[in-house]
Amino acid sequence: MTCVASVEHHDAIVVGAGIIGAACAHALTRDGLRVLVLEAGSPASGATSAGMGHLVVLDDSPAQLALTALATTIWRAVASELPLEVEHDPCGTIWIAADESELELVHAKHRLFAQHDIASEVLGPLELAGLEPNLRPGLAGGLLVPGDGVVNPPQATRWLLERARAAGATVREGHRVDRIGANTVHCGDEVLRADVIVCAAGAETPRLVPELPIVPRKGYLTITDRHPGFVRHQLVELGYLAHAHTMSAASVAFNVQPRAGGQVIVGSSRELVGWDASVDERMLARMLARAAEFIPSLASMQMVRRWIGFRPATPDKLPLIGAWPATAGLWIAAGHEGLGITTSLATAQIVADLVAGREPPIDASAFAPARYTSPDPHRATFAPHRPTSAQ
Ligand SMILES: Cc1cc2nc3c(=O)[nH]c(=O)nc-3n(C[C@H](O)[C@H](O)[C@H](O)COP(=O)(O)OP(=O)(O)OC[C@H]3O[C@@H](n4cnc5c(N)ncnc54)[C@H](O)[C@@H]3O)c2cc1C
Repeated sequence: MTCVASVEHHDAIVVGAGIIGAACAHALTRDGLRVLVLEAGSPASGATSAGMGHLVVLDDSPAQLALTALATTIWRAVASELPLEVEHDPCGTIWIAADESELELVHAKHRLFAQHDIASEVLGPLELAGLEPNLRPGLAGGLLVPGDGVVNPPQATRWLLERARAAGATVREGHRVDRIGANTVHCGDEVLRADVIVCAAGAETPRLVPELPIVPRKGYLTITDRHPGFVRHQLVELGYLAHAHTMSAASVAFNVQPRAGGQVIVGSSRELVGWDASVDERMLARMLARAAEFIPSLASMQMVRRWIGFRPATPDKLPLIGAWPATAGLWIAAGHEGLGITTSLATAQIVADLVAGREPPIDASAFAPARYTSPDPHRATFAPHRPTSAQ
């Protein structure tokens, strides 16, 4: 008599319990699937734990605008369900125009947002100073986007996983996936089968799906001691998009956030240095100097903690959401760079809709992972940044 080892079978397996995996698990359980989440470490231990938690509409491309607008709409819709520890704050964003030329960008953004029914308000210098008195005098104005907000990313992830568990999902921590095959997941000697496998392994996704050009994009954040009311909105310089866009050089931008307990998170930086987690004091100093150009008193405030995270970046600055045609049953939800907290709920809705054969609420074709199935000589590639002693 031959003995056949039993192989576990699930409706869906989600690989990775960052905010993207947690949101996907939750969305799939809502559709009645029996979901297993496999997490190599503990939930939210990757980029999610390092994220700032800014929920923001960004307009670098039409696809990004559609995804972030959908995402912020969903966050507002669930806001009343979020427990206190998620620290949801509908504080809005103010995009700061340093001079008259940037004020033109403010008006262009205002017009674009109006075309997409996204509320925004142009601020003159006096209105800006009235809303945020700690900004330096002499700034030209800004754009207030009241529908943006802030959450605590690890807590939001735990909330999503709790809801998934309540709907029948199982979460296995300390469970690293070694390989994904057709409808199968391999963890050491263990083989698990599923109709649907969602790879949400963040910047580690290429270890499981080597064709995908996701790379870690390093970023620093620091946090001050408590100064309640010091800033009242997420404040971002208008040059932020250009900084997020520059893939070949290390860059910093003014980006500060009020936290629920009165602390202020100060960012941000971007570098392509692989998984190098060492602290470069010069990069941190550059980032803080940029922040002090907008809020001079930040220079004398105590920074009580600093940390590093690795954003999962793609060459075309769009995430990968959808089926992976090369492997039966495999779906990708990864590569969200600096927008994964914002776009988590929209990503999960798109994944659940595509899996169920429903039309997603926005055109998801720009996010299709299939754009990376065949080599394209014109495809954008990364130019890793090598720090030099001059920086
Ligand atoms: C400094 C910084 C600031 C940011 N600020 C913001 C912001 O203000 N707003 C915003 O929207 N976004 C922000 N982001 C981006 C956001 O944090 C990320 O886009 C998001 O967290 C990505 O989530 P993820 O679930 O895809 O990846 P991760 O959080 O990295 O999760 C992936 C998970 O998969 C697990 N895993 C990996 N490989 C395996 C395997 N083989 N088997 C099992 N499990 C595996 C990992 O352990 C990890 O827990 C910021 C990021 C950084 C670094």
